[in-house]
Order: sequence, then C-alpha cells, then structure tokens
Amino acid sequence: EQLKLKDPSLLHVAGFINGEFVKEAHSGQKFAVYDPAHGTEIGMFPDMGVQETQSAIQAAKAALPDWSQRTGQERATILRRLSDLMLENEEDLAKIIIWENGKAMPDALAEVRYSASFIEWFAEEAKRLYGEVIPSPSRQQRMFTIRQPLGVVGIITPWNFPSAMLTRKYGAAVAVGCTIVVKPAAETPFSALAICELGKRAGMPKGVVNIVTTHHNTKDIGKLFCESPDIAGLSFTGSTPVGKYLLKQSADTVKKVSLELGGNAPFIVFEDADVDKAVEAAVLAKFRGTGQTCVCVNRFFVHRSIEKEFSDKMRERVAKFRVGSGFDKATTHGPLINKLAVEKVRSHVEDAVALGAKVLVGGDESVTSSMNGYFYPPTVIGGMTGNMKLANEETFGPVAGIFVFDTEEEVLEIANNSRVGLAGYFYSRDVGRCWRVAEKLQVGMVGMNTAAISSAVAPFGGIKESGLGREGARQGLDEYTQYKYINMGL
Ligand code: ADP
Repeated sequence: EQLKLKDPSLLHVAGFINGEFVKEAHSGQKFAVYDPAHGTEIGMFPDMGVQETQSAIQAAKAALPDWSQRTGQERATILRRLSDLMLENEEDLAKIIIWENGKAMPDALAEVRYSASFIEWFAEEAKRLYGEVIPSPSRQQRMFTIRQPLGVVGIITPWNFPSAMLTRKYGAAVAVGCTIVVKPAAETPFSALAICELGKRAGMPKGVVNIVTTHHNTKDIGKLFCESPDIAGLSFTGSTPVGKYLLKQSADTVKKVSLELGGNAPFIVFEDADVDKAVEAAVLAKFRGTGQTCVCVNRFFVHRSIEKEFSDKMRERVAKFRVGSGFDKATTHGPLINKLAVEKVRSHVEDAVALGAKVLVGGDESVTSSMNGYFYPPTVIGGMTGNMKLANEETFGPVAGIFVFDTEEEVLEIANNSRVGLAGYFYSRDVGRCWRVAEKLQVGMVGMNTAAISSAVAPFGGIKESGLGREGARQGLDEYTQYKYINMGL
C-alpha cells in the first residue's frame, strides 16, 4: 500500500540523527507500523536502541553551544520558516497523520494547523525571553535575572497527535536554545520524520533535532533519557503509569521533568444550560479523534430535569456519525489506534451494561465487525453509576456515559472525586454559578460554555496526577529554561 502525496519526499522510513536520515539500526532489527483503518503494514522502521540514542544525545550536545548562543531572533527566523513550510504542505502532512493514526480528514487537517501554530507561537516567544532587573535592597549591589536554556532535552510523544504533541515541545525547547532527542510513539513515527524533513529545508542546523525510532527498546531508551547526565530535561506526554515511572527514574539525575498525563474529564450540564449548545459541545469534546484525546470527556453529568432532552439529542447526533477510513470523505470518525484500544472500549461498555446501564445508541459491533481496521461504533450510554469502569478509568474511546445529578454541591463532589485533573467542562447560564464551578473544579483547564479549549496561546496542563508543568502559552517556555540570578557589586 502506498500513500499518494504531492511531495513524496516527506515520507521517511528512518530515524534522524545529526541531520541524517538513518534507515538501519545497528542491530539490524525493524518494527512494523500499521494503518489502523485497514490493519495493513505501512512501513518497517529501524528499531533503534541505546547505541543510536547515545549518538543522538552526543549530536544534540555538540549542537548545543552554537544553537544556544544564537539570538532569539535568529532561532525565530528558522522556526518561522518551518511553520510556513508546514502550512504549505498541510494536505500532505494531514494525509500522513490519517495514514498512521486513522483520524478523519477534518481532524487531521486541524491537527496540522494546530501543530504549526506551536512552532509559530514559540518562534515569536523566542524574541521575548525577558529577564528582569530586581530593585536591590543594597546600595552597593545591583540584581538581575537572565533566562538560559536547560540544555539537551529528551522528548517522548504519544500516537494520538503524532504531529502536535511533538511541536508543542519541540517549538518551546528549540526556541529557547535547547537541542532535543525525540522518541515518537512506535505506532506513529511518520509525522515526526516529515517535520525533520521540513526542518532541514527551513535551515535547522544538524544535531538540534534528533529522532530515535523504536518499538522493542522503548523501555531502555526511556531509562537512558532519564539517567543520562547529558540530558537536562525530560518532557513526556502519555499515560499516567508511564509518566510516574519516568519521574521516578529521573530522580537520581534531578532532571527537570514535564509531564502531560491522562485525565478523566467531567462535562456538567446544569439545569439552566442552553441544552442545544451543550449537546454540540458534548459531541465535540467526547468524540474528537474518536475519543482518543487526553482532554476528551470521560463522564457526563446532566441535571435530572433536562437529562431526557440531553440524552435524546445526543443520541440523535451520534446516530448520524459515519465510521470508516479517514481518507473517505463521508467519514466523520476514524478507527481506534489498535486492537487493544477496541478491547478496552468494549470491556467498559460490557461492564456498564452488566451493572445496569442502558445503551442509547451504538454498542452494536455487528456494524463494525466486517471492517478490517480497529473500529468501535460511537456509543451513548445512560443510567451510569459511580461503580462502573467508565466512571473511574480513562476510556480513550468513542463512548459517552451519562450520569444524572440533582445539586451543584453533589455534582462537584463526584466530579472532583478523582486522582487526576486535566480538563473539565460545564454548561450554565447563571453567572454566579459559572464562577463558583470554574473555581471549584479540580482541573488544570476549564471549558465554561465551550468545549474548544486547546490553543497554542493558552497554558495546557493538569493538576494532581495529570502532570507537571504547562505547554504552549508564555508558560510553555518555563519548562525549557532556568532563571539565573546575577548579583553585581558596585
Ligand atoms: P499509550 O497508552 O497512549 O500508548 P504510553 O504512555 O504507553 O501511552 O505511551 C506514550 C509514549 O510513551 C509512547 O511514545 C511510548 O512508546 C512511550 N513509553 C511507553 N512506555 C515507556 C517506558 N517505560 N519508557 C519510556 N517511554 C515509554
């Protein structure tokens, strides 16, 4: 199977070390990447290991003195060019995302634009890495801070946004003068390599960005990232258990660690909400990327007085979805990433039904069983209770479970009864309630009468076990810089 691109040279089946595409691992081992809409193999990548990662770290280390000493303006010029090139090639980049991740074309195109927006944003911010002059308490001293890049940063990215989860880290790190070694998810390495190809064209010097591809040596490479004294920072987006494991592993070298982990987002619809708008937002916030984003809603809480209206409207909207290949124009929702993901979704639905929930639409796999890829029908379930898996674990799939509530106090208590806190959403037209609920939700990001919260200009991140640090926005630079305080005696 071949992917038709306007510019086929964007498709590299290789790692990228010190400015070169590396097609073979020292071990000679390879791993297969599959198209999740058909289950067919689409590339055999070099299964790199510790040896290649060491080379990549050394390349990043060698590139650091020159890159970090350039001015913000000089780095910005290259990043700006990269962002322009991404947009010029957006259709090809979107096709690459569909190929490896499966998402539908509108989602894929939105991801490319979102992805390029991080490079553009941080290109601009590179020029604004201000230090400060501190009013000195002593007549004999003057005090300043300057901000300096951390150094070489290790980056580990997931498969759900193969392009944007990379650039959100890459943009910030490279803009401030860090150099990076990236390990993309084994499911979706193509997008990262396409960005390296465009980076080369934009004039990114060799060694500033390096990619090691692996499947079987993931754990060893992760360990090296955490333990290498040549790596100053680690940025990870992925599951909570892996994030905790990496944080522990990083303790001995006292690395600066940024983590974007899982959530269990609540979506609350109060009795005074605009139900039609809430349903539109609910559909978006639950089913985008077929439910595989970390800010996807996991739990819907709807006030008893409007539960029937909300559930009926959700059911009608979801019944119109069309699952299929992302390349198919009629497709609204693509496949899940792999078989395991389908099994998890199935088990959450079966568990809920066994415990008394009712399927309102979907749940019937006779619709998807004839398809070769990893599909699950978009599903809405009513009559949810707190003892169900769907209530407590991140489903990461196209299933909306609806709970009923009676009071604001009650729903806040249930919504906050979680060890994670990434995003939370609610609909209400009562101004006082809007403030109260926004302040009380235990999450890093709140969508108040909206579901579209992600933006390069706003700080993305979670509280509790959802992570450490923020990405995007002004705050995104903090993850990759240290403040240096200088005291000057007169
Ligand atoms: P998911 O369940 O979404 O695949 P993971 O946390 O397993 O989430 O994966 C996110 C990223 O973390 C991927 O790039 C994956 O290869 C990587 N990863 C998984 N386990 C480890 C590990 N032990 N050390 C380093 N990276 C890991």
